[in-house]
Amino acid sequence: RKKALICGNWKLNHNLSQTKSMVEEVSQAIKNNELVEVVLAPVAPLLFAACDLAKNTSLKIAAQNVFYEQKGAFTGEWSVNHLTELGCSYAIVGHSERRQYFNDSDEGVGKKARACLDGNIKPIACLGETLEQRENGQVKKVLTRQLGAVLSQVKESDLENLVIAYEPVWAIGTSNTATSAQAQEAHSILRVLIADKFGPDRAESVHILYGGSVKWQNIKELMAQKDIDGALVGGASLTAESFLSIVEGSI
Ligand code: 13P
Repeated sequence: RKKALICGNWKLNHNLSQTKSMVEEVSQAIKNNELVEVVLAPVAPLLFAACDLAKNTSLKIAAQNVFYEQKGAFTGEWSVNHLTELGCSYAIVGHSERRQYFNDSDEGVGKKARACLDGNIKPIACLGETLEQRENGQVKKVLTRQLGAVLSQVKESDLENLVIAYEPVWAIGTSNTATSAQAQEAHSILRVLIADKFGPDRAESVHILYGGSVKWQNIKELMAQKDIDGALVGGASLTAESFLSIVEGSI
């Protein structure tokens, strides 16, 4: 099976000194672990410090967002080139909190993923249904629409650098984890949609992460599912001890 990928999304948490100490602690703890790719996503103003400390270690740094234009009159934004220059490896795009509070659209998320791929940043494109959509039997319809907006921007040669994160909105920050069967069902829908466009072998090369109340108690069972290749972790990524126990549990 492919290398697991565990990404901690700190959201709007951790100041400079907390960021520095956690990047140091996690990078030392994982050393040269070949079995799992470990990624941390601090707030944008602290990416410089985080990338500097993670340099020459196997810990990778992700931005939590990025704009798709390279430059121009876009006050408050930053581009993929900035992330490359800092030494970031990944960017989360289309997180449900950005869709909800900052109007990120399906089309915009697709463009952000494209811009990342063009600039050697691996996009972690997030999608997932709300509780209302699940209760109305719309999971497949919503995933098809959201993933379609990303896949329309992607070529076959991009697939090994593409990461998809299934994050059901009702499971985020609620301690209401999807059951491993619910998660696997959604991941399988996503894998089949990718396979429909690019073929089953190529679809296998895409990492599909699960996110939503991941903790050390449930990571093993989630990772045992066929189409779950890693996790996007919010609350449980905020201390080194908790995050490292998830990294450990993923392999
Ligand atoms: P929690 O792990 O806090 O539920 O957050 C999940 C998430 O949104 C990660 O991006």
